[in-house]
Amino acid sequence: MEIIIAVILTFIITSVLAWLIFRSEIKKIKGRHSRMLNDLLLESRAALHFNRLIMQTIDLGVLYYDSNNQLILSNEASGNMLEEIPDDFHKFLNRYGKENNLSSNLVLGKDEADAIFSLKNLQVYLKVHVVQESEGPSHIVLLRDVSRQFREEQQRKEYVSNVSHELRTPLTTIQTYSESLIDWGINEKKPAQLHKDVSKIYEESLRMEKLIDDLNLLSSVDENSIHRQMRVEAVDLPRVMKDLTESMQMQAKDNQKTLTCMVVSHMPNIYVDRSQLERVVSNLISNAFKYGRENGTVQVYVGYITDEVYIKVRDDGMGIASDHHKHIFERFYRVDDSRARKLGGRGLGLAIVKELVELNQGTISLKSTLGEYSEFTVMLPGGQKVLRQTLVELVRDGQASNKITEAAAQDLEQLALSMGIVAKWKSLQPSEVNRIHIEIERLTAEASKR
Ligand code: ADP
Repeated sequence: MEIIIAVILTFIITSVLAWLIFRSEIKKIKGRHSRMLNDLLLESRAALHFNRLIMQTIDLGVLYYDSNNQLILSNEASGNMLEEIPDDFHKFLNRYGKENNLSSNLVLGKDEADAIFSLKNLQVYLKVHVVQESEGPSHIVLLRDVSRQFREEQQRKEYVSNVSHELRTPLTTIQTYSESLIDWGINEKKPAQLHKDVSKIYEESLRMEKLIDDLNLLSSVDENSIHRQMRVEAVDLPRVMKDLTESMQMQAKDNQKTLTCMVVSHMPNIYVDRSQLERVVSNLISNAFKYGRENGTVQVYVGYITDEVYIKVRDDGMGIASDHHKHIFERFYRVDDSRARKLGGRGLGLAIVKELVELNQGTISLKSTLGEYSEFTVMLPGGQKVLRQTLVELVRDGQASNKITEAAAQDLEQLALSMGIVAKWKSLQPSEVNRIHIEIERLTAEASKR
């Protein structure tokens, strides 16, 4: 009997123990499962959030039409690119895929098709992916705004056509004159006529050479390789402008113009590529000769206002109507095409001037009244402004960031040395930086009084 009780007891105890163990295991499994479930939920919520963020922020439009052709998903970018988003895929194709063959390509059973769609001033690239699903095909539409690339491509084509047109004009003259020499034979022509013809060929070849040089310069600006050719130095602007206008007096006389240069204020040296600056100003003066009034005056003013220096070139000529002002610095732009051509203009001069001014961290602007005057103003950073900017760069990065501040860095090094400061820029004490600042201001004030 005792044995039976003992067996039953053992059975009960082991059952209870087993139940307890089972319950705790079940709890553990449940806990593990709910943790897993929880993790899964969090993960999918994060993925959903992430997907939503991507869809909101990418500048690619995305639409999704399910196998019933119903719009299921569309993001903000697609709304910005399309006037309206149809809720049915067929309506979408009717609206945006008819003239560009998108629709017909899809009808042919292709599993992707693309096309360009034009909307007012927007060009949108559309790509449709067909996804084969068990219920039938669904469609993902991707949209990209390609207006900028489109515009650039148009400009590139226009540029190439302008270049070939400009090259063709002197080339045609060279061909005509050389043909006449061949046809008539050199012996048939009088020496004076012969001289005239050959001179014409020579002049036109010079024109072509000049055009090719200008185009090369512009392409080195576009490719950013012009920076390598820049020779920036500290320049005494009033002196350089006086010398330049002096050297153009002969040209002024030939053009029956009076050329003057007036230094309005003294100033510290500026940091520029001297030959580029000379090219800028001589180009503006030559234009003033070309388009200025007969027996008129061309005045150059050089001055200094707070942190900037200015060079103004003013003529009392034909002026430029205000609707041309915003285009005047564009490549190949001429106001009066036939007159400009007669004067040998190709519409590249001011485009080059603007690029060179900007390379030297300056700006150029135009003020003009038709029939009265034109005044081009070049503004460049004053020497002390560049020195201050350079000091900031050196203390922050240990080096100058461009050709202009590189040139100023050499002068700053000398300045620091003369003050007994070793130019280990990144480890300078704030008090040392401050002392250099004060010295820059002192030297500037001194130079402005000269
Ligand atoms: P171009 O080689 O034709 O002179 P520019 O780029 O130098 O080319 O000038 C563009 C156009 O701007 C010129 O064709 C001319 O019509 C106009 N222009 C430039 N400078 C002057 C000026 N000082 N007065 C009047 N018109 C000017």
